[in-house]
Amino acid sequence: MGGTFNPIHYGHLVTAEVVRDRFKLDKVIFIPSYRTPYKGRINLAPSRHRYKMTKLAIENNGYFSVSDIEIKRRGKSYTRDTMKGFKERFGKKTKLFFITGADAIAQIPKWKKAEELPTLCEFIAASRPGFRLKKLPPRYQRHTHLIEVPALAISSTNIRRRLKKGETIKYLLPEKVEKYIYKYRLYSSQRESEHVGK
Ligand code: ATP
Ligand code: MG
Repeated sequence: MGGTFNPIHYGHLVTAEVVRDRFKLDKVIFIPSYRTPYKGRINLAPSRHRYKMTKLAIENNGYFSVSDIEIKRRGKSYTRDTMKGFKERFGKKTKLFFITGADAIAQIPKWKKAEELPTLCEFIAASRPGFRLKKLPPRYQRHTHLIEVPALAISSTNIRRRLKKGETIKYLLPEKVEKYIYKYRLYSSQRESEHVGK
């Protein structure tokens, strides 16, 4: 599951867990991106913080792990290179799935070096409130599984906005991540003591 995880939240975690269960996956690897070629200017926390928050968020799920493959590569990463890396690491026979939100899946055909992707992995598109699977080219459709995830209207954008305004983010993400954000004052967070309740 690739993403900026800026920051990671329960939408990501619920999606990963539901997909793991449904597709009987051996493991789910979260891959925070170093930068994202498609998002333009956003308030992006340094990759070491996003990696650490992801690590904190998944620590009580034995199926989950975090990979720094894209962060270590630096610069722009393309999913095709990441998938190739995993194929080499886990062996040709390992079946790979790329988990993504249904909102992102429609973009895949536009990704750089994407033509090769359907030969490397299958796609799992999780639908979230407000998004519908747009028509995908048949080549991708054949390799895509759609899954409904319990309605969670959580997004990192909304969490960052709330932090900027000094609003509570409690219950939107794991408590350890919340504390981490206040500790390092990410996303111009304020009023930390009030919300964390020291
Ligand atoms: P931002 O608001 O900054 O775009 P985000 O919440 O969408 O952040 P990303 O890091 O972009 O988080 O998401 C990583 C992946 O998780 C993407 O494929 C995205 O579509 C998916 N995703 C994000 N939030 C949810 C959610 N609430 N439910 C299901 N999937 C989600
Ligand atoms: Mg997003």
